[in-house]
Amino acid sequence: MIAYFVMECAAEPYIPTYSGGLGVLAGDTLQSLADLKVPSVGVSILWRKGYTSQHLTSHGIQTDFPQTWDPKKYLKPLDVKIKIRIEDKDIYLTAWKYDMMGISGHVVPVIFLDTYLKENIPEVRNLFDRLYVSQGKERMVQEIIFGIGGYEILKALNYNIMVYHINESHSAFLTIGLLKDLKDIEKVKNRVVFVTHTPVAAAFDEFPVEDVKQALKDYIDGLDMSPIIDHSDRFNLSWVSLKASRVVAAVSRKHKYISENIFEGEKLEYVTNGVHHIRWVSPHHKKLYTDQIRGWEEDPSLLRLVVNISDKDFVEAHQKAKEDLIDLVNSQTNASFSDKIFTIGIARRMTQYKRNKMILKDLDRLIHIAEPFDGIQIVYSGKAHPMDGVGKAIIKEIFDAKDYVSSKTNKVKIAFVENYDMSKAKVIVSGADIWLNTPQRPLEASGTSGMKAALNGVPNFSVLDGWWIEGCMENINGWSIGKKTSWEDVSTEPEWETDDIYDLYNRLQYIILPTYYYSFGKYVNVMKMAVATVGTYFNSNRMVMEYITKLYLGNTLAE
Ligand SMILES: *Cc1c(COP(=O)(O)O)cnc(C)c1O
Repeated sequence: MIAYFVMECAAEPYIPTYSGGLGVLAGDTLQSLADLKVPSVGVSILWRKGYTSQHLTSHGIQTDFPQTWDPKKYLKPLDVKIKIRIEDKDIYLTAWKYDMMGISGHVVPVIFLDTYLKENIPEVRNLFDRLYVSQGKERMVQEIIFGIGGYEILKALNYNIMVYHINESHSAFLTIGLLKDLKDIEKVKNRVVFVTHTPVAAAFDEFPVEDVKQALKDYIDGLDMSPIIDHSDRFNLSWVSLKASRVVAAVSRKHKYISENIFEGEKLEYVTNGVHHIRWVSPHHKKLYTDQIRGWEEDPSLLRLVVNISDKDFVEAHQKAKEDLIDLVNSQTNASFSDKIFTIGIARRMTQYKRNKMILKDLDRLIHIAEPFDGIQIVYSGKAHPMDGVGKAIIKEIFDAKDYVSSKTNKVKIAFVENYDMSKAKVIVSGADIWLNTPQRPLEASGTSGMKAALNGVPNFSVLDGWWIEGCMENINGWSIGKKTSWEDVSTEPEWETDDIYDLYNRLQYIILPTYYYSFGKYVNVMKMAVATVGTYFNSNRMVMEYITKLYLGNTLAE
């Protein structure tokens, strides 16, 4: 069996234990493991108050609220309880189970760890309150419980695990449990694979080695941890995961080069991310594909046959998805969008490197571009991390731009839909006419929202970074923005590259808007090719099959 460890997991839209791409990807991965009947189990954490519920004032000030939810409604409590001694305290741990059901009935259980037990003192009971809020020692204790507690719970539940998949390094402490049981680092390595998701070394979690040893002194009981710790006095979860695994993979080809530069001297594999095709199509596209491309659920590569669907049927599905988006925007904002106007979607976490306000950098130019056409609508959505002042300021600036534009013209309209989540993501990615993504190179390890858009026939218009370097077929399935760098170029560009901004405006003005408004048939071809070339490859079924061949199989054969 494969054990897939991930700190945030969007098993389904109503379980709010995720913040963004990593958690959504985890849900998609587990769904594909279930569909492909891969013997596997997921391990994650039951965040009692989710991540953050975003409320915005009319001026774009974000306030944060806990996401309260009732685990009993979605998860089954498991009859299991273990005890780990951390920092001279006995910590009791239990777990809940979510059944991820595959298309032909195969179930992948997802184990959610939980310390909310009366045996625990209040600070331990409430340790897994909100995702990504704790820092320092508290974060260390969370991650110790996730890695070691998850490892021990799987043992207590009698799972026979062949491969431990550390998906992002938060669960690295599980390697200590393995080292304690197997006593030999080579044996540990044959059991572990590591997929890294971060392109910035400064973002890796790390703690003083002394703190780790102190916290775990009863558990490790004299165990020599030197095989998994490098020479420094830091216990760096990414380095530990790397040293304890047989193979390490990045999440796109570009990210492999970035990561080899970070983990100097190491060779990495890469498995480019994918999204779950059934989870991410609108109800209208689901019906269209089911009617006209039989078998696409089992085999998403059949989506290439989208080119045989008539333009009329294809455009009709898109128009219905677009109406759903316009309804969402008009019911939640006062932007009064129309379903006849070219609509740009921009939705993801509001954090600096995503540069979500690039298209707003020169508002007079944007207004000038829209003038000869029927207009441009831009729909935004996304949360800033509760403690990220820069992210919150970005939302405020988007609101300011919205007000400026509405005072000057009605040819450009901007709307911000609050409290982005999976359900809203599905409406926005499927209902927009184009998907805009302008991250600062090379900080987008992969990105996945553009893959969701493409599955619904929404072309990408994006900076060449992450997955889009592999996916972009210029003028055929979408459009690029700015320069193309070589795989080996790992330098970080300045936050605002004026070339990118000019290129964005020029392509919008001279290529994209004229095609949409004056040669719609050509635009529809690009939409279909987005499904045929992106949907068929950048899906999580293909990704999981690559995990099996590039990552898991080597470990099981090495046994
Ligand atoms: C897909 C998704 C993301 C990831 O978006 P990127 O643009 O790839 O960063 C984030 N949040 C939600 C809710 C998503 O569905």
